[in-house]
Amino acid sequence: MKKKSKQLLKTVFGYDEFRPLQEEIINRTLEGKDSFVLMPTGGGKSMCFQIPALCMDGITIVVSPLISLMKDQVQALKSNGIKADFFNSSISPEEENAVIDRAMKGELQLLYLSPEKLISVSNTWLRELNIKLVAVDEAHCVSMWGHDFRPEYTQLKNFRNSLPQVPFMALTATADKSARKDIEAQLGLKKSKLFISSFDRKNLSIEVRGQVPKKKKLEEIGRFVSRKKNESGIIYCLSRKNTEEVADYLKADGHSVEFYHAGMNPEEREKVQTDFINDDSKIIVATIAFGMGIDKSNVRWVIHYNLPKNLEGYYQEIGRAGRDGLPSETRLYYNMRDFVLYSQFADGGANSAMQKEKLNRMLQFAEAKSCRRKILLSYFGEHLTEDCGNCDVCDNPPKDFDGTVIAQKALSGIARMGEKEGITMLINVLRGSNNAEVHAGNYFQLKTYGVGKDVSFFDWRDYIIQLANQGLIEIMYSESSALKISPIGWKVLKGEKEIKLTRPVTFEEKKKKTKPVKLVTEGEVNEGLFSELKKLRYSISREENVPAYIIFNDKALRQMASELPVTENEFLAISGVGMNKMQEYGEEFMEVIRKYKSVAKPKKIPTTLTTFHHYKEGLSPKEIAEKRELSITTIYSHFSQLYTEGKKIDLKKFVEKKVVDEVRVAFNELNREPTMKPIYERLEEKVSYGEIRLSLALILKSE
Ligand code: ADP
Ligand code: ZN
Repeated sequence: MKKKSKQLLKTVFGYDEFRPLQEEIINRTLEGKDSFVLMPTGGGKSMCFQIPALCMDGITIVVSPLISLMKDQVQALKSNGIKADFFNSSISPEEENAVIDRAMKGELQLLYLSPEKLISVSNTWLRELNIKLVAVDEAHCVSMWGHDFRPEYTQLKNFRNSLPQVPFMALTATADKSARKDIEAQLGLKKSKLFISSFDRKNLSIEVRGQVPKKKKLEEIGRFVSRKKNESGIIYCLSRKNTEEVADYLKADGHSVEFYHAGMNPEEREKVQTDFINDDSKIIVATIAFGMGIDKSNVRWVIHYNLPKNLEGYYQEIGRAGRDGLPSETRLYYNMRDFVLYSQFADGGANSAMQKEKLNRMLQFAEAKSCRRKILLSYFGEHLTEDCGNCDVCDNPPKDFDGTVIAQKALSGIARMGEKEGITMLINVLRGSNNAEVHAGNYFQLKTYGVGKDVSFFDWRDYIIQLANQGLIEIMYSESSALKISPIGWKVLKGEKEIKLTRPVTFEEKKKKTKPVKLVTEGEVNEGLFSELKKLRYSISREENVPAYIIFNDKALRQMASELPVTENEFLAISGVGMNKMQEYGEEFMEVIRKYKSVAKPKKIPTTLTTFHHYKEGLSPKEIAEKRELSITTIYSHFSQLYTEGKKIDLKKFVEKKVVDEVRVAFNELNREPTMKPIYERLEEKVSYGEIRLSLALILKSE
């Protein structure tokens, strides 16, 4: 059986390796036992029941509350040649009959049902089926503790009891301890084993920007989106009005964008969603209602225009990016207004205290000055030992300095203005602005007028927010955001207490610093070919009326555009190409690749691939260097790049563990900048450049 599941993974789905836990879960299910699977969105939960479904000779029932997702999953299964169908309120009576017919004849391997449908047919034809496995997706819906309780789910226990011998699998991406217990009990799982995979989504970069004024926020988003031209992304907003505003702003800038919110009618929403799924529109600006039911693997970025209500929601929403595992960016904007607004919403509602607590945690995360991934994962009970290197704080660790004098200047300004002005006026006074309001308030006579000229407006803003966060100042939202001094603030003002501030980071600085990390992303993709392959994929998707990513995901296309497969075997080696897709689409895609190759000059074939070719022939680095008339350092650098791109190449053969450890120490000491020379010098020129490169590749990939 074991061998069989691995084989199915390759031949049907086109993947070489199981992800962590998948194989264990599959084996346990094949032994007929219950499991509880807790994995993040995009973690690969579906595979856990899909492979067993293919191994067994009956039918697997999948319960899911998300109707659009059902269709999507079934399409994806069919595209891999699997016999699957779904049964929910979206299909006509004729279609229903056809599905029942196929199920009864034993022609289906998987059948997806909504819980209501399942309940309504569980005593009729469903009983007649040879059910071998039941998977309950989005299992948190059964728990009142969860955030998405669905009453129909509570009836699933009867169904479970009617099938005592059949293994059940509960799957979800969100469930804390109490919810987990509840889910097990509600579903009547028997001695189920809990499988929790890491919630770390390394390919998602995390960035947070606080207190950015609206105009600047829109400009920044405009720049961000321009940098991501032709890539799909989602912008989450708090209000319907915001979604329309942001969408209009981007549209005026020529972007392919639509908005989506609960105020639209179902047909409009359906259309927006379909356009996005089909790559007909690239950007969706939505309230949180968007995204629940979609499984689009090539969402490359997610922006939060406002502070989310809690970390669960935030993590789920950013998790909609990068399901295919390719690097994807996420950015969160927040300001204190969002926070106050939500606090007010929470007041008086159900679970008010808990909601506020969750909101506080969200704010703490947004304001954090240490690795964000660490904070996020620890919230979900997972503890990283090292900083992630892929969040804004890791990229630009804040530098503390003694901020007492700056604080005193600001506090004294607030005091002298009688604690009745807001941030903007305070900064204008500190910077000695000569505008009408300053004159109207007679503030130019104050002692603090102009004492902060040397600090820019934006830096002042940042400092003042830091003072508020440290509890020195209170922002009175109920009094037109007037600033008041707290008891600690008075202490600082009187010189009884010192405080630290961190330097604000500018956008440009960030861009410069984050660049070297590119080393860990991907290899040489022929961009021209990639976009041709995308076009072909799009036209096939229109012909077959399925979302483009169901045919091949972006990762597979990028790999094609880098490895240029032109034979069946080469094509099957692409991740995500199983036998069925090879037969359905292989020829068409290879034709495009062949054309590209014949037009492209021979030297366009990536030099690293030539090296890889020789490596596979069994040549040593030295032999390759001689054959190609290149230096051995160059060959090692090719090896590292190939390895980083995910090629099967055993670097450990070429560099001793001891050396890797030395490089790791030096690399860490040098602030983890993956540049050669400083490391070379740090190691007293004893380790060659080639070995440093190999070591870095090993170090970065293993993290
Ligand atoms: P989830 O249901 O946990 O959100 P999915 O089951 O949709 O996640 O899987 C996310 C993506 O990962 C899918 O595109 C799926 O094909 C892919 N995937 C699953 N298992 C593997 C694997 N072992 N190797 C490579 N890709 C995989
Ligand atoms: Zn980090």
